[in-house]
Amino acid sequence: MQLDLLVRKGKYENGFMHCPVQEGQWLPAKINFTSLAKPDQVGSGATGINTLFHGGGHAAHFANIRQNAPCFSQEFPPTSMAYAETQSMFCDSLLHDADWLKRYAKNRQGEVLSDALIKADIAVRQPMRAFNERHILLVPYFEWQLYSMDEDARTPAAITQLARDIEQRILGIGGSPRPTIAIPHLLSMESACSYQGYLLALMAVEQTRHFFLKRYGYLTDNPAIGPDLALHYWRPGNSVSHDDTLRSLTGEGFNPAYLAEAC
Ligand SMILES: [Zn+2]
Repeated sequence: MQLDLLVRKGKYENGFMHCPVQEGQWLPAKINFTSLAKPDQVGSGATGINTLFHGGGHAAHFANIRQNAPCFSQEFPPTSMAYAETQSMFCDSLLHDADWLKRYAKNRQGEVLSDALIKADIAVRQPMRAFNERHILLVPYFEWQLYSMDEDARTPAAITQLARDIEQRILGIGGSPRPTIAIPHLLSMESACSYQGYLLALMAVEQTRHFFLKRYGYLTDNPAIGPDLALHYWRPGNSVSHDDTLRSLTGEGFNPAYLAEAC
């Protein structure tokens, strides 16, 4: 596994994880993933560690798909974005957990983060939680309407108005902090019509977290979690559906109630 963490000339400016494969013969996976900051760097390190955990989740997933052909272990359909992002977002969800912060968030003197700061972090983020998750819906609702429009009606003015209407309807405010049409997923063939996968993944992450918390009482550094994920979520790759993996681990089909509760 090769980690490429720092900004350098010519480097693609977005974290990603990629597993090259060679056709015709079995080779052990060679995994590369990137981020744009050192996790212990003051300031941008916060984004860096999030990308590191996110990419690490994808890497753990793709390194543990154990099937007899590479087609079960690649990012394109039938692999769903929601299934892949569940693995990465489960890992990066740990970073805001108070017990994780107590163990790892230390200053240069080795002092742990105070309870007051952890509480302040929660107080700042929690009120926006539902708004942020709803924000994801702008893209799929916009795409749904856009691709349903008559060709003649699809003018620049009508498309801009459609984006404004959907922002108003979903967020309840005129204009989004991140304008819908500025979201790059809309324009790229690989990522178009898949943005809902992030929200589905967040739902599955909360369902998974709830299951582990109920079973074990804690997540941080819990050695039982990796083998559970490997067996139920990772090993089958795309040979089963996302819903099947959730049923296999949690005993329950896809359930959005846990994300609603977290919000
Ligand atoms: Zn991802």
